[in-house]
Amino acid sequence: MPELLTSSTADLYRSLVSQAASHVAARFADVAQPASGASRAELQSLVDAVDLDAAGIGTPSAIREVDELFLAHAVWFHHPAYAAHLNCPVVLPAVAAESVLAAVNPSVDTYDQSTVGTLMERRLIDTVAGWVGFAAGDGVFTSGGTQSNLHALFLAREAAIAEAGPARASSLPRLVVFATASSHFSVGKSALLLGLAEDAVIEVADDGEGRMLPAALDEAVAAARAAGRLPMAVVATAGTTDRGVIDPLARIAEVCDRHGVWLHVDAAYGCGLLVSRRRRHLLTGIERARSVTVDFHKSFFQPVSSSAILVREPRDLAAGAWHADYLNPIENEEPNQVDKSLQTTRRFDALKLWVSLRALGADRIGEMFDAVIDLAARAGDLVEADPALELVGRTQLSTVLFRSVPGGSDPAEQDALVAGIRRVLFESGRALVAKTVIDGRPCLKLTLLNPETSLEDVRGILETVKDAATALAGMNPERELIGAGA
Ligand SMILES: *Cc1c(COP(=O)(O)O)cnc(C)c1O
Repeated sequence: MPELLTSSTADLYRSLVSQAASHVAARFADVAQPASGASRAELQSLVDAVDLDAAGIGTPSAIREVDELFLAHAVWFHHPAYAAHLNCPVVLPAVAAESVLAAVNPSVDTYDQSTVGTLMERRLIDTVAGWVGFAAGDGVFTSGGTQSNLHALFLAREAAIAEAGPARASSLPRLVVFATASSHFSVGKSALLLGLAEDAVIEVADDGEGRMLPAALDEAVAAARAAGRLPMAVVATAGTTDRGVIDPLARIAEVCDRHGVWLHVDAAYGCGLLVSRRRRHLLTGIERARSVTVDFHKSFFQPVSSSAILVREPRDLAAGAWHADYLNPIENEEPNQVDKSLQTTRRFDALKLWVSLRALGADRIGEMFDAVIDLAARAGDLVEADPALELVGRTQLSTVLFRSVPGGSDPAEQDALVAGIRRVLFESGRALVAKTVIDGRPCLKLTLLNPETSLEDVRGILETVKDAATALAGMNPERELIGAGA
C-alpha cells in the first residue's frame, strides 16, 4: 500500500516531500511579484477544470498540478511588495518543523497520543508565560487570536458568573465587556457566541489615536455597575490591528484591580515585543492581566496556525474542562491538554515555535520584529514628506495608514480613490496593500512584517500607489476639470 506513510513507504515519503519542496523552492526562487494578477474568472475556471471525482492520478502528478494551480497563483507573503495584512513571511526552522509534525501527526489533546509532545508544549507555554511575567501561569496553544479571545472571554464569563452567585440565568444578560472601538472584531463576535446581551460590549473612549483612556474606563465600569450590570472583562489591545497602537496596560490594570474586573490583553499583534530587547517596555503592565492572547503566526514569523491563550492563574482554565470516558476520564492523572482547550484533536503547532527558538534564539526573533517596526517608522516619514500622500496617524508597531491626495483633490475624492487604488494594485498583482476605515474615512494600509523589506521597496509600493491614483483620477472627468483649473 503506497498510499500511507509507513515503514515500507519511508523512502517514497522522502522523495515525495522533496519533490514538493523542489516545486516550492523553484517558485520562491523566481517569484517576480506578490501575486500573479490572474482574474477571479480565470482562477475559477482553472479550479473548475479539475475533476475531483476522477480516478487518482498519482502523487507526483497531483503535486505537479498543485504547482501549476496553486503555487503559480499563490499570494507570496515574503515578497517585498506584499504589504497588506497581518499574515507574515515564515522562518525556515518553523517550515521544517511543520513537515515533521504533519508526518508524525500527533494530536496534543491527550498525553497518550503525544507523550513528549505534550511535555514540550507545556514547557513552551511556561516559557512564554514567563516572558509575559506570569510567575506560575498556564495556557494552551490555539488556532489563532480569534479562538484565544473567545476562550479568554469564556473563562472570564465563567468567573464572573461564579462570583455573582448561583443564579446563572439572571447573571448572563447583565454581563458587560469593555473595549475600545479599535479592539479586534472577535471581541464582539465572542460576546455573541457566549450568549451575552446585544449591548454587552461597552465602547470605551480613546485618546483620538485608538488607545483606551483609563479614566474613561474607570467611569464606564462605575456607570455599568450603577446601572445594575456585571462587569465581566476589560479587553485591552496590545497592538491594534489597524493603527498598531498599544493601550496603556499598566494604568488599565490599575483600574481593573480597583474594580475587581478580569483584564484580558489581546496581544495577537504586539506579542513579538515580548522578545524585543529594545521595545519590551511597551508591554509593561501585561503581567497584571488575568489572560493574554498571543499570535505567533503574526509577530513571531510562524506558519498558520500558531497562537496561544495564557492565564495568570492556572485554575482559571478549569472552567473549560470536560470529561469523556474514552479520552480523559476524571480519574486519569496524565497531563491531558484537552482539559485546558476548546478543541479536542489539536495540531502540535508548538513544535514550530520550539524549533524556531532553538534554531534562532528568542532575541533574533525580537530583532526581526524590531526591524519591521523601524521600517514602518521610516515609511511613515516617507509618506509624510510626500505632498501626494497623507499619513493618517502614527503607529507603535508596523502598520502605515495613509491616503493618496493628488494635487487639487478634495477629501471626498481622496476617499473615493482608496478602494480603486487597492483594487488596481490587487488586479495587477504587483503590490498588495490593504484598506480600512479610520475615524469614518477610508484609507490605505501597509502592514509591514517582512524584516528583509527595505525602505526602497516601500518607496516602490508608494510609487505604484501614486501611479494608480493618477490613472484613476485621470479616468474621472470631474477630476480632469479640477486639474485643468489648478
Ligand atoms: C489578528 C488579530 C486577532 C485575530 O487573530 P487570528 O489569528 O486572525 O484569529 C485578534 N486580535 C488582534 C488585535 C489581531 O490583530
